[in-house]
Amino acid sequence: MENYRPTKAIVDLQAIRDNIKNLRQYLPNSTSVIAVVKADGYGHGVLEVARTAIEAGSIMLAVATLEEAVHLRDCGITADILVMGPSPVVVAEKAAALGIHITVSDAEWLRQAVPKIGSGFSLKVHVKIDTGMGRIGLRDEKSLNDIVDVIQGTSAFSLEGAFTHFACADEEDPKKSEIQFKRFMDLVAAFPERPRLVHASNSAAALLYPEYALDAVRFGISMYGIPPSRYVETKLPFQLKRAFTLQTELAYVKLLEKGSGVGYGGTYETEQSEWIGTLPIGYADGLKRGLRNQEILIAGERMPIVGSICMDQCMVKLPRELPVGEKVTLIGREGNEEIQMEEWADRLGTIPYEIAVTIARRVPRIYHSSHG
Ligand SMILES: *Cc1c(COP(=O)(O)O)cnc(C)c1O
Repeated sequence: MENYRPTKAIVDLQAIRDNIKNLRQYLPNSTSVIAVVKADGYGHGVLEVARTAIEAGSIMLAVATLEEAVHLRDCGITADILVMGPSPVVVAEKAAALGIHITVSDAEWLRQAVPKIGSGFSLKVHVKIDTGMGRIGLRDEKSLNDIVDVIQGTSAFSLEGAFTHFACADEEDPKKSEIQFKRFMDLVAAFPERPRLVHASNSAAALLYPEYALDAVRFGISMYGIPPSRYVETKLPFQLKRAFTLQTELAYVKLLEKGSGVGYGGTYETEQSEWIGTLPIGYADGLKRGLRNQEILIAGERMPIVGSICMDQCMVKLPRELPVGEKVTLIGREGNEEIQMEEWADRLGTIPYEIAVTIARRVPRIYHSSHG
């Protein structure tokens, strides 16, 4: 579809490629990279990111739901795909038929899945071990033995992996991660045969603790160039390259006399005669209403959003008259200035992860590959 509105997200696929290559270089040769592309590739666009990640040497893609995995298959992606979230038993047939790896946490799930799996198929499973996240996953050796018994008693399953997930790897104190890793290793040792792919680390752990890299790491937020936390940002073993830029253009510019209201509720009133620009982007695009007063960039200069953000538009206070069509950067670098997702996240009391997945589908993703 043609784009008429100038509001767009520009995604730099070369940055994603470089982040994966740099991580692969940093980690032991025996460690593979699983590219986490859930939630539409953290809002970057799943298909292009998936293709780029495979090209850059990722051995597997990871998503949250079977729907996300099936979408990738429908788009012609033949790579291994792991569904990391909990799946209802009904997915077993489809997942087996499409060769999609499913996460399992208990023997009962497997027992119920057996009759659903077509003959001649086997469902690829990764056993999830909860070592401190308190989310899905088994927690003791008995539960693990139960799962192993079911798997060994049928040809319906093939045990492909075992994994856990760190809850606090992005924090300064390494203690909790250490405890989680040890619990994980203890339970992995209880398998009669070590699964082919044992994996634990998310981005934060992959970057901070290469000693936990095991057979693979699940590389999510930092594949897109975003540090998992401010703390991890201070400890990066290599520079991450941000892939995401959010841009639009000045759609309208006018001089408002002193005392004019701007936006719903007139919450902003001009203090003098002021140049006010209108941007064709609003909260339906992910520019949350809580971002009032957030700055944007024009020609490397910061200027504030004023008044309440509308569903599809917002207003900015310009320092002088600027031409309609002038490029506006809401997230990204321009000249010596940069507005990062973290700045929006701080203003909204959240984390950059949430910002990435909040930019609406209505904003077209435009792909390019910078070099260097
Ligand atoms: C989302 C997710 C990841 C990726 O985490 P990042 O912090 O984005 O790297 C890894 N593992 C699991 C189980 C996840 O749900």
